[in-house]
Amino acid sequence: MTTAIGVVMTEHIVAGRLEDNRLVGQTLRYPEDLDESDALAAIPAGELTEILATQISTLAASETRPLDAVGVAVPGIVRHGVVEDSPNLPQIKGMRLAEELGRALAGRGIAAPVYAANDADSIAAGVAATRGQLDRLTRVWTIGNGIGYGRWPYVEGVWEGGHITVTLDPKERFCGCGGVGHLEGIMGYRAMRMRFLDLEPEEVFAQARQGDARCREFVDLWHRALAAATASFIHLAGPGRFYFTGHNVGFLELPLLRSHLETMVKMSPLQSFSLEILPPDDETALLGAGVSALRASAE
Ligand SMILES: [Zn+2]
Repeated sequence: MTTAIGVVMTEHIVAGRLEDNRLVGQTLRYPEDLDESDALAAIPAGELTEILATQISTLAASETRPLDAVGVAVPGIVRHGVVEDSPNLPQIKGMRLAEELGRALAGRGIAAPVYAANDADSIAAGVAATRGQLDRLTRVWTIGNGIGYGRWPYVEGVWEGGHITVTLDPKERFCGCGGVGHLEGIMGYRAMRMRFLDLEPEEVFAQARQGDARCREFVDLWHRALAAATASFIHLAGPGRFYFTGHNVGFLELPLLRSHLETMVKMSPLQSFSLEILPPDDETALLGAGVSALRASAE
């Protein structure tokens, strides 16, 4: 039997214990108050490490066997245990997360290896694990304030799919990173608020459904942008399974996405792709963080 702890840190922290790639027992959440959003933004990186270590040691205390691995999923560019960038949690940029958390855990008597991963990659790992398809390519788009792209199995790289260029229009400059023509500059929540100064994104999608021409045109662009990025990944890595999740996945109309994708992917060996919406939850990411940590520790 393998035992691991998976943690996901986004606007809040959720941690859970895994046995044989399955979540067992209760998860722990910080802050415990569900209404408190954006609670982590003001907490210094060192304190976040302590909160993570406390949660992990609480979960580890319910198990007599030593842990095989600890995995932490965070948004941003995460490589070799280092958070190279994390626009929504800027205080952890540059942090040697795996090393620092490992030290905090060692101080609590826990010697398990610690791995850090991108949250979208962890969701892909979690989906692959729950569907029993750890041997297959699984890709995930997370649609939230930013746009994330994750894949399982992990391969070395940057994989900032949300910043893929989907238009040559020089006026498309709403991406949070400052780049022109990016997917997130069309689909991201912040970017939509900058484009529609008079409407919230929810109102844009609602008015589109009621037939408003300007909103309908934008909703079509939003889906075409996602189709373009997905088509690019199909042309690079092949067809297969794509999952869509995240806080704002409710904006997505799968038939509309599929109809645009079919205009973009014409080579017959590439047309066997599948598209599926997953309701957002924290358990998939933390499960994936634990599963990928176990996989990495076994290599
Ligand atoms: Zn960008």
